[in-house]
Amino acid sequence: MRKTLFIAVIVTTAGLGGVVLQTLAEAVLGYTDTPMLPSGKWHVHDPARPRPAVVTPGASFSDGAAAPSDAIVLFNGTDFSKWEGVNGEPKWTIHQDYMQVEPKTGDIHTKEKFGDFQLHLEFAEPAKVEGNSQERGNSGVFLQGIFEMQILDCYNNPTYPDGQCGAVYGQSPPLVNACKKPGQWQTYDIFFQAARWNENHELVRPASVTVLQNGLLLHHQQAILGPTGHKNLAKYTKELPAEGPLELQEHAGNPVRFRNIWIRKIQEEEKP
Ligand code: MG
Repeated sequence: MRKTLFIAVIVTTAGLGGVVLQTLAEAVLGYTDTPMLPSGKWHVHDPARPRPAVVTPGASFSDGAAAPSDAIVLFNGTDFSKWEGVNGEPKWTIHQDYMQVEPKTGDIHTKEKFGDFQLHLEFAEPAKVEGNSQERGNSGVFLQGIFEMQILDCYNNPTYPDGQCGAVYGQSPPLVNACKKPGQWQTYDIFFQAARWNENHELVRPASVTVLQNGLLLHHQQAILGPTGHKNLAKYTKELPAEGPLELQEHAGNPVRFRNIWIRKIQEEEKP
């Protein structure tokens, strides 16, 4: 199978008006040897897919929002009591009021499982900018442990649109690029509806998300095609459990930070 790598080339002016061409090895900007998405327009991780417009978040959308009274506080800056790592206690570190991903420690997930929910979390990309494309500040929030909402430093960092920050990874780019500068705290508010199945274990309604980053809408009732994969077409192949944990990703040790994580369970069927 043909494998196509799109390598970034950066042009910078240097010295006496000269031009330096710098090839960024390993800065893969997309793939075309991947399956077509159901729209029939784009491949999974298609580099030609239009890039979402960059929008600067308004100053009024600040971080540090206090959890509502009915929220389950998953992380308030002090301990990992609501979380598990690959083998027991998470090996990530806690500093001041935030947790930080540590290399070779693996993902961490909540002990509790969730169906439909409203989630708030805050993250900061590494202030020291390293790597390009998918290798810069990569983490992610896996909803029910299987659907990745991408976290990536996409401030002046091109990558394939369905893999940029705020994407339903490998499926749906965000409506806009709402990223703040590396080092700054950013908010993620995710409203999730789990997939629904009938008594014959057939899919009745796919999972869906509405997402805000820094107060800007990234997805509105976006259907999720299936559990996240890399370079393959996501689809539902079997009935999924009604509930699953939240998982935060360690990607190549990128030292992404998280703080102020809370969640509210939504009981749609019990709506007054
Ligand atoms: Mg990721």
